[in-house]
Amino acid sequence: DPRLKAITEAIRVVPHFPKRGIMFQDITTLLLDHKAFKGTVDIFVDRYRDMGISVVAGVEARGFMFGPSIALAIGAKFVPLRKPKKLPGEVISEDYELEYGTDCLEMHLGAVQPGERVLVIDDLVATGGTLSAAIRLLERVGAVVVECACVIGLPELKGQSGLNGTPLYVLVEPR
Ligand code: IMP
Repeated sequence: DPRLKAITEAIRVVPHFPKRGIMFQDITTLLLDHKAFKGTVDIFVDRYRDMGISVVAGVEARGFMFGPSIALAIGAKFVPLRKPKKLPGEVISEDYELEYGTDCLEMHLGAVQPGERVLVIDDLVATGGTLSAAIRLLERVGAVVVECACVIGLPELKGQSGLNGTPLYVLVEPR
């Protein structure tokens, strides 16, 4: 797909952010590039349009920057998966391991109904720990996670994953 080159080039790599040794993949520069941003959303929309998906679930915070556009275009609702204590209603929570310590994602109860078909979206997948927590949250309420999608994915994870059988779709690799 010729759009992938422009997408790769629009992502800024920031060395040593947020700490020494990390090559941070910064998608804010992709959002500044109309053609590359639209190409990103269009690729996902073309893929998910006819898959019977009624929910796009976005992972805080950068999943929120792509998810709603995709949801509107494919006729799905958007559900935010948030960090702890951000959602005002009744929530379910799922903890997950980070390199140092743990983190947690929360979702409003009632946002997703049993049997609904869900696309989970985030900007980047590294170990898959975040997406796995998102999948567990959704499966606990009886939803079917059709696929996880990310703009950027480590090559080791491409195609398949530590996502317990849930397919993973990524557009580009980190530079
Ligand atoms: P994982 O749980 O190890 O797969 O890490 C993925 C999570 O870390 C996602 O929510 C990403 O937004 C975030 N993340 C890790 N590295 C980067 C990066 O270089 N750029 C942007 N987000 C990152």
